[in-house]
Amino acid sequence: MTVRVRYAPSPTGLAHVGNVRTAIYNWLYARKMGGTFIARLEDTDRSAERYSPEGIWDLEASMRYLGIVPDEWWVSGGPHEPYVQSRRLPIYLGYAEQLLQSGGAYRCYCTRERLEAMRTEQQLMKQPTGYDRRCRNLSVEERTRLDKAGTPSVVRLAMPLDGETVVHDLIRGEIRYDNRSQDDQVLLKSDGYPTYFLACVVDDHLMGITHVIRGDDWLSSAPKFVQVSRALGWEPPPLAHPSLIVGPDHKKLGKRHGSTQFAEFVRDGYLPEALFNFLVLLGWSPGSEQVELLSVPEIIERFGLEGLSEHPAVFDYDKLRWMNGQYIRASEPGRIIGLCLPYLSQAGLVSDRPTEEELAYVRRVVPLEIERLKTIGEITDLVRFFFKEPAFPAEFDDKGVRKWLKADSAGSILERQMLGFKAVDEWTPERLEEITHASAESLGLPFGPVVHTTRLAATGRTTGPGLFDTLDVLGRDRVLRRLAAVQSQLPLGADTVEAGGDA
Ligand code: GLU
Repeated sequence: MTVRVRYAPSPTGLAHVGNVRTAIYNWLYARKMGGTFIARLEDTDRSAERYSPEGIWDLEASMRYLGIVPDEWWVSGGPHEPYVQSRRLPIYLGYAEQLLQSGGAYRCYCTRERLEAMRTEQQLMKQPTGYDRRCRNLSVEERTRLDKAGTPSVVRLAMPLDGETVVHDLIRGEIRYDNRSQDDQVLLKSDGYPTYFLACVVDDHLMGITHVIRGDDWLSSAPKFVQVSRALGWEPPPLAHPSLIVGPDHKKLGKRHGSTQFAEFVRDGYLPEALFNFLVLLGWSPGSEQVELLSVPEIIERFGLEGLSEHPAVFDYDKLRWMNGQYIRASEPGRIIGLCLPYLSQAGLVSDRPTEEELAYVRRVVPLEIERLKTIGEITDLVRFFFKEPAFPAEFDDKGVRKWLKADSAGSILERQMLGFKAVDEWTPERLEEITHASAESLGLPFGPVVHTTRLAATGRTTGPGLFDTLDVLGRDRVLRRLAAVQSQLPLGADTVEAGGDA
C-alpha cells in the first residue's frame, strides 16, 4: 500500500501553529513511507468570519516557508483535482443523495428559530444540547408536502441510536464511544454546501487517503467520521490525533500565552529549520535518548506515528527562542546578515536600498551580535547603537551612568582615551586594547573601570560584544565624537541620572 496522507486546512484566518504542526506530521509520514502528501482546501464554510482569502495565501506561504510543499494540492493540481472543496459541490450533492436513498441520512426541515428554542430549553433543563431528531421520523406524506412547498432543508446523518462506535486511533488505541452521545450531524446545509463531515469523508475516500492525521479537536467527533464513512459503504482510514498543544500554564494554547499564528513567528525572525524542529518535537519523541536539535533528514529517518504522543505538549516559548539561536549560530553568517537587512531597513537603520558602504558596515556589525541573537527581529535593538548615537543620558543605561560616569575619574578616563584614540596609528582591536591599557596605567587605575567607562560613553550600554571589536567597527570618527559628547557633560549634576529613567 502506498501511503497517501493529507493536510486539510480551512482558510479561516492566518494559520495556527497547531495546524502547521499537523501539516508537518503528514508531510513527514509521507516522506518516511515514500508516500504522497496532499493538501486540500476545506473552504465550505463561507461565512465572512470563517472564510479568509488571506488565510489561503498564508497556508501556502507557511508550507513553502518550511519546505513542505505538497505533492498534490490546489496550487499545482494532481490526479484528484480540484483540491478545493468549494469547487467540488456536485460531488457532495451526489453522495448526500445516495445517503438519503439508503436511509443513512434524512432531510431536516427545522427552522433556525425552532433549533434555537430547542437549544435554549435544553440548556434551561440542564440537558445535553443537540438535535432532538424531530424530522428523523416524518412520514413519507409529510416529507412530500414539505418538499412540494419548497421548505428549506438540510441533510442530517442518521446516527445509530444505540450501541457503540469503535474508533481505532493510531496514537490513542481503541476508543469506544456511546452512540447516544453523538448528534445527528448536519451533512449538507440548506445553501447546498456540505459540512466538514460529508466533504471530508468523501474527499478522503476519493483521494485515496490511507491515514488521517488531524488536529485533536476532531477526536470527540471521530464516531461521526466513522459512521458517515460506513453509511457510504466505506471502511474509514485509520485516524491519528496528535496531542493538544498547551501553554506554559497547561491550558490550551491561546493568544494570552503569546504568538500562536505561524506568520507571527516568521515575522519575528524564526528560521524555518528551528520552527520545523520545534514543532515536530511538540508531541513527537524521536526515541529514548534526549536529543533536541535534529535536521530534517534526521527527523525523517526517525519519524514514525508510534513516536506521537497523546499527552498535551507544552509550547515552551523560551525553548523555541533557544533553538532558534542555535540554528542562527549554525548558519553561515552571510545568510543571517541577509535575513537581518530587511529588519534594519524597516527600523530606519539602513536605507531601503542600502548603498555598498552601508552593506559593508552591516557585514561588520551583524557578526558581532550573532552570538546573542535569538530571533532575527531582535537584531535592530542589539545593533541600534552602531547606527544611531544614543542620546545622553536619556538613552544610556541608567545604572551604568551612575556607576561609571558619575565617578570622579570618568572625565579623565575619557580624556585620556580620546588622546590615545586620536593618535593611534592603526585602528585595530589590538591597538585599541593597548591604548586602553596605557590609559589605565597612566591614570593609576585598574583596566576594568577604563573599559566600562569607555564602553558606556561609546555605546550607551554596559554589555555587548567585546569592547575593542565594537570600537573597531564603530570607527575612529564615531568613537571620538561620542566620547567627546559625553565628556562635555561631565561632571554630572545630581539630576542627570534621574532624567535617564528608571532611578
Ligand atoms: N478542515 C479541518 C480543519 O481545518 C480539517 C480537519 C481534518 O484534518 O480532517 O480543522
